[in-house]
Amino acid sequence: HQDEDKLQEYMDELEFLAFTAGATVDKRFTQKLTQPDSKTFIGSGKAQEIRDYVKEHEIGTVIFDDELSPSQLKNLEREMEVKILDRTNLILDIFAQRATTSYARTQVELAQYQYLLPRLTRMWTHLERQKGGIGMRGPGETEIETDRRIIRDRISLLKDKLKTIDKQMATQRNNRGKVVRVALVGYTNVGKSTLMNALSKSEVFAENKLFATLDTTVRKVVIGNLPFLLTDTVGFIRKLPTQLVESFKSTLDEVREADLLIHVVDISHESFEDHIDSVNQILMEINAHQKPMIMIFNKIDDFSYEKKDEDDLTPSTRKNISLEEWKNTWMAKSKYPTVFISALTKENFPEMKKMIYDEVMKIHISRFPYND
Ligand code: GDP
Repeated sequence: HQDEDKLQEYMDELEFLAFTAGATVDKRFTQKLTQPDSKTFIGSGKAQEIRDYVKEHEIGTVIFDDELSPSQLKNLEREMEVKILDRTNLILDIFAQRATTSYARTQVELAQYQYLLPRLTRMWTHLERQKGGIGMRGPGETEIETDRRIIRDRISLLKDKLKTIDKQMATQRNNRGKVVRVALVGYTNVGKSTLMNALSKSEVFAENKLFATLDTTVRKVVIGNLPFLLTDTVGFIRKLPTQLVESFKSTLDEVREADLLIHVVDISHESFEDHIDSVNQILMEINAHQKPMIMIFNKIDDFSYEKKDEDDLTPSTRKNISLEEWKNTWMAKSKYPTVFISALTKENFPEMKKMIYDEVMKIHISRFPYND
């Protein structure tokens, strides 16, 4: 991490992830290295410092922001004598807690086993005492001692199960016929579910935690007599574990097969530009980056950043920006139709609805050119 601000933002996000998983963060440690130590990720002095702190304050878990290699994880756990989680493990745990449908549970279980497989040699015995807790949910401890083969069997079983469900879901998608399909995409916690609720007047679970949405929800929405299907997808996040991208294939298929994407951005978040990049990156990975898209900059009501510098006119450093001012920012000059709203107060909803209507209508007309 070069930049101190960035570093703190990453740590904020990690703390938010930990909070979502049910943990409270006691202290942050950072270290600048030109490259991670191949054996222990951090340097030995830093490891010692953390170890001493953990001992003194009786800390239960140490969380790393990056994915650790199996041997780094093992070495660190031995050196620090504390449970170690990496970012991937933490995210998998959150998904495990929040998976409600059998499909989501199967996807998470598969991802967890794939994460576990190369880490089977890990020393868990000294951790047997602290049963449960973060990183221990799902296929955790009890299977650790079992044969790799059993886990491989389980993985192929889960893959088969997912394949079957994938087929069913593809059929369902086909049966939806020619109705225009719109997918909400965006970084996690930007307000997709809130927007979905506001547009479809249904109750989708929205809360201020990361990944409140695990499964896709499809709702029929009508704007000015024009019906379309709106899908809420899992929130994207920086460094989403690759196992998850893979196993959430069907969730992402909703995005891949959508006719129109609505990219929701949380303008009140200081890293919103990074978030846009992360989302575009994932859209590219799933080959959905060339679809028609609308950019919705959300949370204009919640805009409370301190002015860093009088001359700094970037919106993220200014307070109380009016709608007219928003429209003069670089964000409004994107190649996509762009609108600024608050999903909470419904500010500027008429303009947003008109924009969605126009874009859906374009697709509708291209599909039914001879109807009125
Ligand atoms: P999702 O993860 O993208 O689906 O985001 P949610 O819809 O769950 O919203 C995340 C949090 O942001 C919740 O606490 C919402 O109440 C809040 N939120 C959503 N839209 C707005 C908005 O326009 N303004 C403000 N202030 N908060 C919002």
